[in-house]
Amino acid sequence: MTFVPSDGQRKRVFIRTYGCQMNVYDSDRMADVLRPLGYALSNSPAEADLVVLNTCHIREHASEKVYSELGRLRDEKLERRAAGRDLTIAVAGCVAQAEGEEILRRQPAVDIVVGPQAYHRLPQLLAEAERKAAIRRAGKRLPGAGVLDTDFPAESKFDHLPSPQGVRAGSAFLSIQEGCDKFCTFCVVPYTRGAEYSRPVAAVLAEARQLVEAGAIEITLLGQNVNAYHGEAAPSSIGGSTWSLASLIRALAEIDGVARIRYPTSHPRDMDEELIAVHGDVPQLMPYLHLPVQSGSDRILEAMNRRHGRDLFLRLVERLRECRPDLALSTDFIVGFPGESDADFDHTMRLVGEVGFASAFSFKYSRRPGTPGSAMPDQVPENVKAARLAALQTLLGQQARDFNLSKVGATAPVLFAEAGRKPGQIVGKTPWLQSVYADGDPRLIGHIVDVRLTEGHANSLAGEIASLCEAAA
Ligand code: SAM
Ligand code: SF4
Repeated sequence: MTFVPSDGQRKRVFIRTYGCQMNVYDSDRMADVLRPLGYALSNSPAEADLVVLNTCHIREHASEKVYSELGRLRDEKLERRAAGRDLTIAVAGCVAQAEGEEILRRQPAVDIVVGPQAYHRLPQLLAEAERKAAIRRAGKRLPGAGVLDTDFPAESKFDHLPSPQGVRAGSAFLSIQEGCDKFCTFCVVPYTRGAEYSRPVAAVLAEARQLVEAGAIEITLLGQNVNAYHGEAAPSSIGGSTWSLASLIRALAEIDGVARIRYPTSHPRDMDEELIAVHGDVPQLMPYLHLPVQSGSDRILEAMNRRHGRDLFLRLVERLRECRPDLALSTDFIVGFPGESDADFDHTMRLVGEVGFASAFSFKYSRRPGTPGSAMPDQVPENVKAARLAALQTLLGQQARDFNLSKVGATAPVLFAEAGRKPGQIVGKTPWLQSVYADGDPRLIGHIVDVRLTEGHANSLAGEIASLCEAAA
């Protein structure tokens, strides 16, 4: 069914990415896998021969969006068929993993369902989809139209992927770890991404060097719990035969050209002293840490199987701030987990007051089929969840604004990433991951530039370019 244009044009693929940065990374890697097959990236499904929806299953709302999009794509496919052309539809990512066959049953227009551990096999899956399409075009009946691959293969997909090409404006994602063994009772990740796996040190460092050669000056290390990293290394290496995230960050900082290192999404239980120390003494590690706490109530944290209490979290914050006083802390909260009382929620609000977050993500608990939380009694009514979320977000919003305002008057190095909405404007990130808007030459995109911060808002800062820290091309 893959449409091969007769005039020798390249085929086009449109990849829509839902959810987290892991999915952004996976989408880039799928594009890398498809490139040798002749697929160029398209900006719209209307111009594409192949559409890939790289999906997220973390909350119900996220997976329902996928089915609405599939309905629109089915209509597009039918229109094209009437005009003698075709459209191949693939569903990738965590909804593909969690729902598998169910997707093909609910939406028969789907040709391929591929889980997050199997996308290196896209070429074979496309060939199989094409073979089935040819049989159908010949008027023969086929039991089971779509092609499905949701295995967790024994071999790592990372060993089968081509070199990464995904450097955008000096910044690149590097996946170092995948899956999770923690089984928080609200979370689908251990089921959709599988057991925790850390890539070997040599592979990570080699990919980092390739990214730097391709123009990256900022590397963001990705994983479901990046600080659970424990990668195999040569037994004779200084960090020992298994490296922690701390050793890996130290080695990455040694690579010439790496100006910024980040790692989002870490678990409080995996935040050890060695890693805390790295925040104090590796200047390339940016002073920003995303450390999800989920709740301020010990009772709820235990029901969530988080394996940390409120005190451990507060102690970590204290130690981190001792090592890196300007550290911007970010976190995740879930409100309305089963059994959460007003008193539990009050503990969450008090924890926010005690810590003072620079930014945060907060969500209403979403019941995910197959997770222990979905079967727990005392599910919290939607209206209670909504009221708690509104109160929490008001407080977090004030803290984010205060944090931005605290930087006004300072000069900060900003890595410019893209053009702003207004003409002449460019947008970038401070070391603390705040968005900064400034008037500037678009050639500064991809470079780190000193910016005087002049205004602070809820979600961003405005600034004026002060000087170039690093020569622009
Ligand atoms: N590994 C990280 C940690 O230990 O907290 C979080 C990764 S998870 C993919 C991202 C965030 O989604 C979580 O921190 C949580 O706040 C939110 N999340 C996960 N499952 C959820 C659910 N069932 N309902 C609401 N939010 C959820
Ligand atoms: Fe999900 Fe994070 Fe818990 Fe793992 S540690 S189960 S990814 S919330």
